[in-house]
Amino acid sequence: MQQKPDYIIAGAGLVGSLLGLRLAQRGFRVKLYESRSDMRKADISAGRSINLALSDRGIRSLELVGLKQEMLQHAVPMQGRMVHDVGGNLQFQPYSERPGEHINSISRRTLNVILMDALEKMQPDAITFNTELSSLDFQNFESVFQSRNGERFMHQNIPLLATDGANSVARKELMRISPLIRFNYAQNFQNYGYKELTIPPAEDGSFRIHDHSLHIWPRGHFMMIALPNPDATFTATLFLPYEGKESFAVLQTEESVTDFYSKYFADSMPHIPALTKEFFEHPTGHLYTVKCHPWYYQDQLQLLGDAAHAIIPFYGQGMNCGFEDVFVLDQLMDQKLSGEELFQKFTDSRKINSDAIADLAEDNFIEMRDKVGDPVFQRKRALENRLEKFDPSYFSKYALVTFRPDVSYHHAMTLGRMQDELLMQICSSGEEINDASLPEILLKLKKLTLENSE
Ligand SMILES: Cc1cc2nc3c(=O)[nH]c(=O)nc-3n(C[C@H](O)[C@H](O)[C@H](O)COP(=O)(O)OP(=O)(O)OC[C@H]3O[C@@H](n4cnc5c(N)ncnc54)[C@H](O)[C@@H]3O)c2cc1C
Repeated sequence: MQQKPDYIIAGAGLVGSLLGLRLAQRGFRVKLYESRSDMRKADISAGRSINLALSDRGIRSLELVGLKQEMLQHAVPMQGRMVHDVGGNLQFQPYSERPGEHINSISRRTLNVILMDALEKMQPDAITFNTELSSLDFQNFESVFQSRNGERFMHQNIPLLATDGANSVARKELMRISPLIRFNYAQNFQNYGYKELTIPPAEDGSFRIHDHSLHIWPRGHFMMIALPNPDATFTATLFLPYEGKESFAVLQTEESVTDFYSKYFADSMPHIPALTKEFFEHPTGHLYTVKCHPWYYQDQLQLLGDAAHAIIPFYGQGMNCGFEDVFVLDQLMDQKLSGEELFQKFTDSRKINSDAIADLAEDNFIEMRDKVGDPVFQRKRALENRLEKFDPSYFSKYALVTFRPDVSYHHAMTLGRMQDELLMQICSSGEEINDASLPEILLKLKKLTLENSE
């Protein structure tokens, strides 16, 4: 007879698989149910984007489960943003001046497969595919799963960890009992969709555009980005309003798409040979933020990852934040917390931080599509790089969020915003900033840090 699991996990996506693996390493028996088929056996999409930017918060969690090196072998380092203006001129903006600080482009599928393989190595029957969480009965502490072939699985008195993504069924079940737990829920849809397109390798198999960069074509109220893959392809993503003068609504014919690209992204066109085909064949993805609270019910249910806090992708932090959830839960387990106390402490510690990164991601959308091309912003970014080079103990807001997992998202946001305000003031004055003025600026920045310690 199979041993009764200690935890049930709904969703074997990125966060669920990492969570399952970590709990197995801690000696727990886990049972995961995944609504899709096994991506290792069927050629199905791994989900919402083809590749992702993995950075230090996510890497710290992968290190916890012993998979850091293996994952990084499959990643392409991105040292900075390569900004393409309308005329095709390029400007490189490094992410950091400290050696080793970069982000990593990695395939969602590769990440997910390595995590699932590692989990199944420890517990071969841990994941059941084609089976979804269908309902929760809080009165009887029961979770119900339904397979595609009509089988039902019910578990009683076993805590459910819900990592079933942005459209979480577990979260909807909490909504159902919202008067009982005063459940708050907010969903903020962007008026933007996204479309993924492929930049294939050059004829000689090399990358067509600079390989160690995240490419951005900022165009004010819309933009395109491209992240490299190890096979010398890039996945480009167009972010565009649904309606309006330049929007998905007006791009209804091959001719309109070609005209739009010739006008705004001309330098990219030779690199996207299947532009019109992919534009009409690939689905348009939606972008939205989800905030909710509380993330748990007694000792029965805990939401984690996008189920608790879906954010828009413009800081490259959604998965990193979900991976950090696993790291924090693990730390709390080290403190011997369990049951409702564990869930409550976890929620208290994570909610403030996931709200912060959600807000930062919304700010960064404006920065990426609009400000990276703005001269004052470019001066500020260049000044930040000079400051980091002059005094490596100074971290810009971007660096705090991306390279400093020891600093919470909330602190990175509050301190980073103050730093930004000060530097934008300095850069908008138009005055020449020579090396002699750097110590004085750093002193002001240090003062902000001291006044706002975590
Ligand atoms: C375009 C785009 C680009 C992004 N880029 C980045 C990036 O660069 N860096 C970054 O850190 N993040 C990025 N993100 C965010 C990242 O994709 C998510 O934060 C991450 O996937 C969340 O992981 P998750 O496991 O919580 O949810 P998901 O990855 O959505 O996994 C949920 C899993 O649950 C399964 N499931 C759903 N419902 C049920 C059910 N009822 N029962 C059982 N299983 C179920 C799903 O099939 C899925 O496998 C991006 C997102 C988008 C949309």
